[in-house]
Amino acid sequence: MKDFDEIFGQKPWIIAGPCSAETEEQTIDTARQLAKNGIKVFRAGIWKPRTRPGNFEGVGAVGLEWMREVKKETGMLISTEVANVKHVWDAIKAGIDILWIGARTTANPFAMQEIADSLRGCNIPVFVKNPVNPDVELWLGAIERLEAAGLTQIGLIHRGFSSYEKILYRNAPIWQVPIEIRRRRPDLPLICDPSHIAGKREYLFEISQKALDLNVDGLMIESHRNPDEAWSDAKQQLTPNDLMKMVDQLVVRKVNPDGISMESLNELRYKIDQIDAELLDTLQKRMGISQKIGEYKKANNMTVLQPSRWDAILNKYVEKGAEKNLDKELITKIFTAIHQASINIQVDVINGKNNETK
Ligand code: PEP
Ligand code: MN
Repeated sequence: MKDFDEIFGQKPWIIAGPCSAETEEQTIDTARQLAKNGIKVFRAGIWKPRTRPGNFEGVGAVGLEWMREVKKETGMLISTEVANVKHVWDAIKAGIDILWIGARTTANPFAMQEIADSLRGCNIPVFVKNPVNPDVELWLGAIERLEAAGLTQIGLIHRGFSSYEKILYRNAPIWQVPIEIRRRRPDLPLICDPSHIAGKREYLFEISQKALDLNVDGLMIESHRNPDEAWSDAKQQLTPNDLMKMVDQLVVRKVNPDGISMESLNELRYKIDQIDAELLDTLQKRMGISQKIGEYKKANNMTVLQPSRWDAILNKYVEKGAEKNLDKELITKIFTAIHQASINIQVDVINGKNNETK
């Protein structure tokens, strides 16, 4: 089995193709244009998980024949989403090279287990999209089920998270989640799907660049020969030409560029470590005082929360922070967290859960 580096060539790896295979012509024509531009792995959805019934739900197994044709004619590897055992069988039978698991399937341990069991003994590369909810454990669980079934070539796809509130993008990127999964599983390649995060093509560049700056290994981007006429996800797709233009504009930075001295960076990192240690000491001192305040309030039968005082303090810090060019949101988050922790300590003291000040 070829590893991902052999499959994709240089980084960032690119997987491109339409959201859905719609017709034989559309599939093959889009693929031809992508192959001409050097794309090595073609994607197309055959079975589409739609939130509400009545929308286009994919052409089904007949589209696999068109993908075989793509592979035969262009030499690209072909990939599609599988969401149940029948999809797995059909895809394997048709010679699909790479599978991916969609966000709604990753979120479902029963479906994941069935898919993993059906893949036992068939070591095909599988990319696993993040679940629709920002749950790192659920994402890891899906991967572990595939690994337990003997799969060894597994990758991650960050495609963003559903949100109740109206946000700029279609799905909230919540970048901490891919950062955390990378920390937990540094051995697994991670690619970003800016298309499903963005929802609109105008945001694809900024999301892709941010993903590359976080050192993802590649991008899965939807591309259609005529995006405005696409049967699914029309607003977020790019023509193969526009896709290549966008990719060309991306800046690929290195973690450790050759030939540059790390000395000044290390010096700055050293300073940051020192400041972080001071922050910890300061927090420790502050929480010690919260303990004493708790003891005072207990002795005098006072409530812990004094809302007007808290409000005044927070406003004061936001204002002072602004004078120091510190972001309002940052100050609000930090001081709210500190205040919450301080209240917890005082509540414990008042209820006799905490020992005397040490
Ligand atoms: C897709 O890749 O077309 C798709 C349906 O993705 P997701 O599972 O991320 O919504
Ligand atoms: Mn799509």
